[in-house]
Amino acid sequence: MTHLITGGGGFIGSHLADHLLADTDNDVLLLDDFSTGAETNIEHLRDHSRVEVLRADVRDRNAVFDAVGRADLVYHLAAAVGVQRIVENPLASLQTNLEGTENVLEAAAEDGTPTFLASSSEVYGKSENVPFSETDDVVYGRTTAPRWGYATAKATDEFLALAYHDERDLPVVVGRYFNIVGPRQTGQYGMVIPTFVDQALAGEDLTVYGDGTQTRSFTHVADAVEITHELLETESAHGEVFNVGAPNPTSINELAERVIDLTDSGSEITHISFEEAYDEDFEEPDQREPDVTKLRETLGWAPEPDLDRILSDVIEERTDREVPAR
Ligand code: NAD
Repeated sequence: MTHLITGGGGFIGSHLADHLLADTDNDVLLLDDFSTGAETNIEHLRDHSRVEVLRADVRDRNAVFDAVGRADLVYHLAAAVGVQRIVENPLASLQTNLEGTENVLEAAAEDGTPTFLASSSEVYGKSENVPFSETDDVVYGRTTAPRWGYATAKATDEFLALAYHDERDLPVVVGRYFNIVGPRQTGQYGMVIPTFVDQALAGEDLTVYGDGTQTRSFTHVADAVEITHELLETESAHGEVFNVGAPNPTSINELAERVIDLTDSGSEITHISFEEAYDEDFEEPDQREPDVTKLRETLGWAPEPDLDRILSDVIEERTDREVPAR
């Protein structure tokens, strides 16, 4: 079975590759332009006999059609990610997240190749109706704030995927990831856990944006990739949207304190405003928590909250390594 992972050089994609390769019947194609993904994520797979790396842009239609044509299953994870990157490069981000997805879905529809689409809890926008359920309405901010471009692009990707399912019989499943974290995630694009861990290990202040009472539900990447694979292989999941996350709302202040405890660091916590961190148009949702009833009913399980396991794994990875300059 040949599995194509777009964004395969990225954080989640590289873990998904490891997960799939544990089964010796699987071959893996990794398509990535390495814009945010790192060569180091897949260094250990370079000489693997069942892995092929395709350096390409998902906006390149021919490259996508070639790659999808060789695959039995497709996981579309390539995207411009990270709030900071979206705010700084709105145009390229939108093009990647819209055109790239349409290329993948159109190519997959040619042969009816089952496809997983990586969506995001961002799709819920600034809804306050926690925990978020897949059938909930979404609430977005104004179009002059680039932050909402990511949410609406992912929402449009979902519309496209469901339309390909309904009109072209594409077996496609949408997974809305909620703050997936773990080893290999970079702090470069505003991801909070690697940033806090690096700051704590360096004895620097941990920088909390806003007043730090905003909550997020963190999910271990190992659980996320297992669910991703299972959803795609579950026929009843096709044509459906699922929250993929562990319901464990943790405030950013609590997170910072836990990182300091677990690293035994003498760091302090400082707060800076979102306006200072991004721009004056910036809006940050207060709460993000998934309702995982549908996931549990479909697969028979959902990720358990385990912040300490996540933090220990990230701390272990980042201890004793050279910390890149921010
Ligand atoms: P990541 O940045 O590590 O992975 C994305 C990968 O896509 C990178 O390797 C990047 O180089 C590649 N990429 C970007 N633009 C590309 C292009 N034009 N052509 C080809 N490759 C391109 O981030 P991740 O956290 O692993 O995210 C994977 C997917 O999951 C994304 O679709 C993201 O939107 C989604 N997601 C992630 C989270 C999370 O918490 N990590 C949450 C919600 C959604």
